[in-house]
This record gives sequence, C-alpha cells and structure tokens, in this order.
Amino acid sequence: GPIDGVPMVSALPKSGASGDAPAPQASVPLRVLLAEDGEDNQRLLVHHLSRAGMTVTVAVNGREALDLALASARTGRPFDVVLMDMQMPELDGYEATARLRTEGWKAPIIALTAHAMSGDRQRCLEAGCDDYLAKPIDRDRLIELVRRVAAPRA
Ligand code: MN
Repeated sequence: GPIDGVPMVSALPKSGASGDAPAPQASVPLRVLLAEDGEDNQRLLVHHLSRAGMTVTVAVNGREALDLALASARTGRPFDVVLMDMQMPELDGYEATARLRTEGWKAPIIALTAHAMSGDRQRCLEAGCDDYLAKPIDRDRLIELVRRVAAPRA
C-alpha cells in the first residue's frame, strides 16, 4: 500500500541533552502500589518512596487496591511491589491480599500494620504477604525492604 506520509522512524527521546536532567538511573523506577487510608501516612510514604526514585500509585482502601493491582496485571505491567496497610475500610489488607493471591497475583506484597504484636507478622504472612513493616514506618527500613523484595529472584 502507499506509505507516503507514514512515519517510518519515530523520534527517539534525546538522552543527556538537558542540562538540568536528573542523574541517570541504573534501572527503570520501581512502580509501587501504596494501599493506605490514612492521609498522613500516605503523604509520608509517597514522599519517602518518591525521593528514592520510585513511582507511587495510591489506593485509599482495600477494594481500590485490589482493583488497581488486578488492572495493572491485565495490562501486562503489574506493579512491582504492593505496600498494604492491614487496617483499611471497605476491604482490609488481609482480605485484599488473600484475594490478590487467589487471583494469581505474583508480585511481592509488604504488610503495613499499626500493631507490632508478635502474632501479627504470622497473620500477615498467612494472608499472602511477603514481609511486614510495623508503624511508625522507618524510612531506611522501608526503602531497603521494598528494593529487596522487588529484586528479581534467582
Ligand atoms: Mn489504616
């Protein structure tokens, strides 16, 4: 067929051309789904994760987290990590995590919980979480854990 006017080569993004571009990153940013209903925690966690170079999408309850995660999986680009507050309205983190796993969700899920009780960790793991952070969230532990669980497994 006629190819007049059909662009055969699309413009490539310039690399390193902008003087005020951020330092190049070694890899694509991690895409994090943050499920958290508390506004203060949302702000704080988005701040920490963004400053660490990650891309953050916020869900304000378990139902929204479930919907966003499954939608990302359907597009073939699931979130790299889910941070799941365990105490949320609509659907709590335990139920949202269990349903995600039932639906075949493979990416890591990190539980966030206000309770640093000994039985809590086990309950989170049984629901399908990979690991656990107790509130108040320590920034360094948060970033280290997200990067560790998101690393490709050998
Ligand atoms: Mn909560």
